[in-house]
Amino acid sequence: MNTTPLRGGCHCGRLGWEARLSQSAATLSPRACDCSFCTKHGAVWFSDAHGSVHLRLRGEPLRYRQGSAQAEFIACSHCAVLVMVTCLIDERTHAALNARTVDGPVPFAPEQPASPQRLDADDKRERWSQLWFPDVRFDYVDD
Ligand SMILES: [Zn+2]
Repeated sequence: MNTTPLRGGCHCGRLGWEARLSQSAATLSPRACDCSFCTKHGAVWFSDAHGSVHLRLRGEPLRYRQGSAQAEFIACSHCAVLVMVTCLIDERTHAALNARTVDGPVPFAPEQPASPQRLDADDKRERWSQLWFPDVRFDYVDD
């Protein structure tokens, strides 16, 4: 992994992430999930199965489950920006990041539609285990 880390986060700064990618962001097409939750947020997700994410949190975020309730969405409890989605797969936290929360110019390839809601619970986990960041670190920092 020798690409420059990407950085992003929520609007108010309580949640900040740094992602290390195994490939150029220009080769990643964020996935516009068509479930009702992601649609309401306009969320588009990116991840790298050979990359890593470090999430820095000031205070507890909002956590929300819906649909098959396997995945947990993480949003800022102050400014309400939806930043990340996680899922515990084989006892390991996997995650994808909301590409809308990247700081600076958008570095990604064009978005493409995705419809994980058509998969059953096992197939979702299988898909996410192949797509999502498998290396996720959370750091709680004081105000
Ligand atoms: Zn915030």
